[in-house]
Amino acid sequence: MTEKNTPAPAAVPAAFAARPLRVAIIGAGPAGVYAADILTKAERDFEVAIDLFDRYPAPYGLIRYGVAPDHPRIKGIVKALHKVLDRGDIRFFGNVDYGTDLDLEELRVHYDAVIFATGAINDADLNIPGIELQGSHGAADFVSWFDGHPDVPRTWPLAATEIAVIGNGNVALDVARMLSKHAEDLLVTEIPDNVYEGLRASPVTDVHVFGRRGPAQVKFTPLELRELSHSRDVDIVLYPEDFEFDEASDALIKSNNQVKTMVGTLTNWLIEQEEREERGEAGERASRRLHLHFLHSPVEIAGADGKVEGIRFERQELDGTGQARGTGELVDYPVQAVYRAVGYFGSALQDVEYDGRTGTIPNDGGKVLDGSGTQVPGLYATGWIKRGPVGLIGHTKGDAAETIAHLLADLAGLPLATNPAPDAVTGLLDSKGVEYTSWEGWLALDAHEQALGAAAAPAPTREGPVPRERVKVVERAQMAAVSRTADEAARSRA
Ligand SMILES: Cc1cc2nc3c(=O)[nH]c(=O)nc-3n(C[C@H](O)[C@H](O)[C@H](O)COP(=O)(O)OP(=O)(O)OC[C@H]3O[C@@H](n4cnc5c(N)ncnc54)[C@H](O)[C@@H]3O)c2cc1C
Repeated sequence: MTEKNTPAPAAVPAAFAARPLRVAIIGAGPAGVYAADILTKAERDFEVAIDLFDRYPAPYGLIRYGVAPDHPRIKGIVKALHKVLDRGDIRFFGNVDYGTDLDLEELRVHYDAVIFATGAINDADLNIPGIELQGSHGAADFVSWFDGHPDVPRTWPLAATEIAVIGNGNVALDVARMLSKHAEDLLVTEIPDNVYEGLRASPVTDVHVFGRRGPAQVKFTPLELRELSHSRDVDIVLYPEDFEFDEASDALIKSNNQVKTMVGTLTNWLIEQEEREERGEAGERASRRLHLHFLHSPVEIAGADGKVEGIRFERQELDGTGQARGTGELVDYPVQAVYRAVGYFGSALQDVEYDGRTGTIPNDGGKVLDGSGTQVPGLYATGWIKRGPVGLIGHTKGDAAETIAHLLADLAGLPLATNPAPDAVTGLLDSKGVEYTSWEGWLALDAHEQALGAAAAPAPTREGPVPRERVKVVERAQMAAVSRTADEAARSRA
């Protein structure tokens, strides 16, 4: 962090000598949990009490509802977050929606500071004709469906044989991989039963991923790109005319190892494909294909009877600086579904300024600003809602460190809670009839999902049957019921 971003901690106000600093964090995704962890561990000579709220009974945000189910290593990051919340010094309140169940005025009564860590769950827009047609989807909606998000429908239309995915980032790869993989190969993961059944019935044969610029400009990461070649019975198909490198691309390949690795991977795949063609082995190998196209900019989605039946692109060329410009050549692909994976977008929060261009809360290093650019005392932001929906889970740690440093530097100016008693907020939630869940409730839901996995038929794999680690509970009411039953049992024991 720069000097500007690491302010010196302030002198401790008298209030916090007599009682803990009380902080509410809204959002129990990685950013919220890291902020809580960093604040509890910060060097200080006063106590802190942190309440972490999430609108779902399950914590972990996009690790649970974004990261693809066949990425168990990344999903495994929850183990570190679990340890933080399991220490017992941070209270978790699930099933509490900021803006519906609690508002800012109420939070101000019970907390000295509020940190918004609400992330992003919606798709960024792509304004091309035909985007509203039936069969045109946002990647985020599909991701929410395959990750068992409680707020999306349980069924997903999977009738297309040919599909276009627009975008050249990791989410586009996730979507393309999930669409092209055989459902049986996902059974070892935590996919909910309805997702398995939906994918199993899919007649897909060809998934086309389109990027606007060249192979050196992709926004993938090397591991995620290489992983494409690991899907059983799915061939990768590349197009030699897409392999264009301008001066800027050459410079980037030389200076950036990540780009060099990915261009190397793509080029090797192309060479292998051409060698197979030369040997006359170019015919059908796999029953499904995943095509990677570059230098294609979407122009229009074509439809008939209100449904997607094709997509038109303008071919691009690189302009020497790594940017793409149109060549005027139009190319059409017959597809029956289009997924736009052009980015996520954060949502506005009640009583907090919102920047509709970036989908973020306007802030200065995490200090929330009002419409005139002035700091709002006691309000902070971290994670994707602070910085925009880019970057990996690890990046939210740095975010949180910066935000917490500012909060600690602001101690003397925080608007003190008028009713800081820890029970006051539970009393408020009870009086409003909010069916909140606790950390113990999440532990019960977690154990319940693992028990469902153990009871399910083992997943068939090349190495033989493998027990399922977990089967996700999808319905919010069911999630809350499992959690609250455990909470009530704990309360009656107490
Ligand atoms: C499809 C996809 C795949 C990804 N794959 C990877 C990967 O493989 N590796 C990797 O490192 N990163 C990956 N990422 C990025 C990673 O998920 C993000 O960097 C990270 O989740 C951002 O953390 P966050 O806490 O800011 O937001 P989120 O994870 O979105 O968490 C925000 C939390 O706030 C809660 N919330 C929102 N609004 C309210 C409200 N009004 N009241 C109460 N609670 C609320 C939400 O329920 C959620 O739990 C992926 C992202 C996506 C979208």
